Amino acid sequence: EVGMLSDELRMNAYIVGGFVRDLLMRNKNFDVDIVVEGDATVVARTYAGRKGAKVSVHDKFKTAVVILNGDRIDFATARTEYYDFPAAAPEVESSSIKNDLYRRDFSINSLAVQINNKDFGKLIDFFGGQKDIKDKKIRVLHNLSFVDDPSRVFRAIRFAVRFGFEIGPHTKKLIKHSVNLNLIERIAGVRLFQELKYILSEDNYIDALKLLDEYDLFKYYSAKEVYNSGKLENLENLEKIYSWYTFQFSEVCDEIYKSRFCVLFSNLTFKEVVNLGERFNFSGKMRDDLIKGLLKTKNVVLKITKTKEVTPAKVYRLLNPLSNEYIFSVGALLSQKDDYLIKDYFTKYRNTKLLISGNDLKKLGYKPSKLFGVVLEKLLDLKLDGYITNKEDELNWAKK
Ligand code: ATP
Repeated sequence: EVGMLSDELRMNAYIVGGFVRDLLMRNKNFDVDIVVEGDATVVARTYAGRKGAKVSVHDKFKTAVVILNGDRIDFATARTEYYDFPAAAPEVESSSIKNDLYRRDFSINSLAVQINNKDFGKLIDFFGGQKDIKDKKIRVLHNLSFVDDPSRVFRAIRFAVRFGFEIGPHTKKLIKHSVNLNLIERIAGVRLFQELKYILSEDNYIDALKLLDEYDLFKYYSAKEVYNSGKLENLENLEKIYSWYTFQFSEVCDEIYKSRFCVLFSNLTFKEVVNLGERFNFSGKMRDDLIKGLLKTKNVVLKITKTKEVTPAKVYRLLNPLSNEYIFSVGALLSQKDDYLIKDYFTKYRNTKLLISGNDLKKLGYKPSKLFGVVLEKLLDLKLDGYITNKEDELNWAKK
């Protein structure tokens, strides 16, 4: 439909990037990126108007997003020197999509499929993307690619591990050059974090960490060594606990990268953790979540390891304030023989509830006050530790 509409508007339209790559590789991908030679905002507005869909337009960059039945379609105008010149001669049109594709990161991401009616389905491959998909290679399009955007170094690693591809020999060399030239330092903090987050969200992120180490990229995150065999063991623990959890509760965690992040940086000191947050230019919200989460995780691990007698109530009180991601990291950092603490927490402790309530306390003559909460908390601890087994016990203890 977008293609037919583009015909009407006399513009060429293409689906580009990840969607085409994944289509050729038979992977699922629901993010559609459309590039229009002409003006994408006109196509997006008209399309959304006809479909009764929501559209938000960025006039300055000539881009737009249409949300249709919950799916997102991104529209962008092909960026070339012919920017303001809608649909002229075919050479100009094709050079225009060509220029747009030339600005992209890797050959596998530089493929396009035309969607205009007359050329519907025509695959456009200027830079050998199909061959590289076949050869399983991540290759940049030109020598200055990492100079243009050093964050592509991290993208290369991410795509390599996601698809089980190799980074091509020349591209490898260019990555090493950009590390030697310290180009990575130029990446803005927000971006540096974003790339790490994406990497830690990949299923095969452990392979990616190996590559980050090989290319000596961890130094841009911390001066202290964060990656070694001990860390690998912790990360493997984490994955064990997390797969136990997903199996047990048939529930996945959308932000598992947070657990991985915590384990990865678990050996940093307080000061170093704070510095990391600063390097990432974290907003207050991110600091409160990830930086505090990491510090709390470390603290809970320390407390559990230092405590002589780790009772269920103590475990409950330590873990309960943490969200699941951080509880997984606590588990990963404890020695394996203590795994059961985390498992018991999820299967037993967190579901333990008192049978009596504030009302019962009132009947016993307690005046509603702060003390109420304290008494209920104490009762729950007794129940967790097995001193209380039924409602009568609860009432008896409450009387005391
Ligand atoms: P994913 O499945 O991770 O979303 P994707 O290929 O769709 O993969 P995006 O980050 O959404 O990745 O980018 C969409 C497209 O935009 C890419 O396929 C690539 O062509 C281009 N692109 C994105 N980031 C860059 C970059 N830093 N440099 C060059 N091209 C980029």
